[in-house]
Amino acid sequence: MTNQELMARDLAHIWHPCTQMKDHETIPIIPIKRAKGVYLYDFDGNAYIDGISSWWVNLFGHANPYINAKIKEQVETLEHVIFAGFTHEPIVRLSERLCALTGMDKCFYADNGSSAVEVALKMAFHYHKNRGERRPYFLSLTNSYHGETLGALAVGDVALYKETYREILITTLQTPVPKDRSQESAIQALEVLEEILKERGYEISAMIVEPLVQCAGSMHMYHPLYLTKARELCQQYGVLFIVDEIAVGFGRTGTMFAYEQAGIRPDFICLSKGLTGGYLPLAVVLTTNEIYGAFYCDYLEYKAFLHSHSYTGNATACAAANATLDIFESENVLERNRIKAEHIAARLEAFRDLPNVADVRQRGMIAAIELKGYDPRERIGLQINQFCLKEGIFIRPLGNVVYTMPPYVIETDELDRIFDTIFKAMTTKA
Ligand SMILES: *Cc1c(COP(=O)(O)O)cnc(C)c1O
Repeated sequence: MTNQELMARDLAHIWHPCTQMKDHETIPIIPIKRAKGVYLYDFDGNAYIDGISSWWVNLFGHANPYINAKIKEQVETLEHVIFAGFTHEPIVRLSERLCALTGMDKCFYADNGSSAVEVALKMAFHYHKNRGERRPYFLSLTNSYHGETLGALAVGDVALYKETYREILITTLQTPVPKDRSQESAIQALEVLEEILKERGYEISAMIVEPLVQCAGSMHMYHPLYLTKARELCQQYGVLFIVDEIAVGFGRTGTMFAYEQAGIRPDFICLSKGLTGGYLPLAVVLTTNEIYGAFYCDYLEYKAFLHSHSYTGNATACAAANATLDIFESENVLERNRIKAEHIAARLEAFRDLPNVADVRQRGMIAAIELKGYDPRERIGLQINQFCLKEGIFIRPLGNVVYTMPPYVIETDELDRIFDTIFKAMTTKA
C-alpha cells in the first residue's frame, strides 16, 4: 500500500472533519500507517513530528507502552457495559482520582468535549429550575470555543464555525474577553462583565469560560485575575461558573488545570481531550454536592437529570484515563514540563523581531506566533503547514496564528526541529 492508493480509496467514501474537501484535489491527504512517541509514519516511509498532539489530545506519545498495556488488560476483562444501573472498577477509581485532583464531589460522564459542554449547560439550567428559578440564558466570552454541537456552538463565538448556523442557535449572551495578557485589560473586561450581571444576572444560569487560553480562538491568552474576579462576580448574582478545561486541562498551561492559577473553585469542570492521554473518546463534567443535591429527591418530584450517551463511562476509555493519571503520578510530569516550557520560551525569542510577527505568546506547553501582513486569501497558515510537512513537522495553524502544543514526551532536539522549521517557513514565505 502507498500513500497514493490509500488516499484515493479514502476520498471515494470519506468526508473529513473541519475540511473543504475540494482542497484535497491539490493538497494530499496523508495516510498514517503507524505512530510511536511524537512521530507519525506514513505509507511512503516519511516521519512527521506530531507538533499539535493530534488535535491537543495526546500527552505521553503515540503507542505509549504503559497505556497500551493497561488498555489491553481492560479489554480482556470488560470492554464496556451500560452505565445506567451498572458500574465498574475503572470508573470508580477514575472518579475518585479526578475528585481528589480538583476538590470536586461528583462526576458525570460523556464521550466527547462538546457533549460535556452540553451536559454542564443543561445541568446549570436545570439546577436553577429545580430550585424554582427560571434562568434561560448562558453567558460566555467573546472569541470563545466550546465545541460543535448546537448548544456548545451557541455559547461559542468563533465566527468561522458559528456564523452559518446563527439563526438556529439558542440566544446566549457574550461578554468581552480581556484583549491581552495584561492585568489592565482583565480589569476593563471585568467592568463590562459586572454591568451585564447587574442588568441581566437574574436570568443567566451560568457563565462558561476557557480558563487562561482560548485555544481554538487563535490561542488568545489572558490574565488569571480575570477568572478570579469573574468567579466572584458570578457568585454574587447566583450565576454558576463552568470552566471548560477540555483543551487546557492536564498540564497544558503549567498547572494540572488552568483554573488553579486563579485560585478558584468552579461549579463545573469540563474535561476531555487529554483525559485518556489521546487514546479514546471520553469526557467528564465534575461538579459539587451543592449542584447534585438539587437533583436528588423522590422520583415523583421529576427532578432527575435524564441525560445519557450510549458510550457513557466506557470502561476501556476509563482504563486509558487511569493509565494517564498513573503517568502523571509516577513521572513528575508537571516539573519536567516546566523545563521544556523554559526551552520553548527561549526558542520563541528569535521570532519576536521578525517583520511578519505581530505577537508571540506562551503559557506552559502552548506556544503561539501570530503573523501579520497577510491577506486571508493567501492562506498563510496552510502554506506554513505544507512547508513544515515536507520537512517532517506536522503543525496546523489557526488562520495566521502558528502554534505548537506538543506531546509532553517531546525531547529538546525535537522541539528545536519544530521551531527551526517554523522559522524557516516564516522567513522563506515572508
Ligand atoms: C475541543 C474543544 C471542545 C470540544 O471537544 P470535542 O471533543 O471536539 O467535541 C470544547 N471546548 C474546548 C475548549 C475545546 O478545545
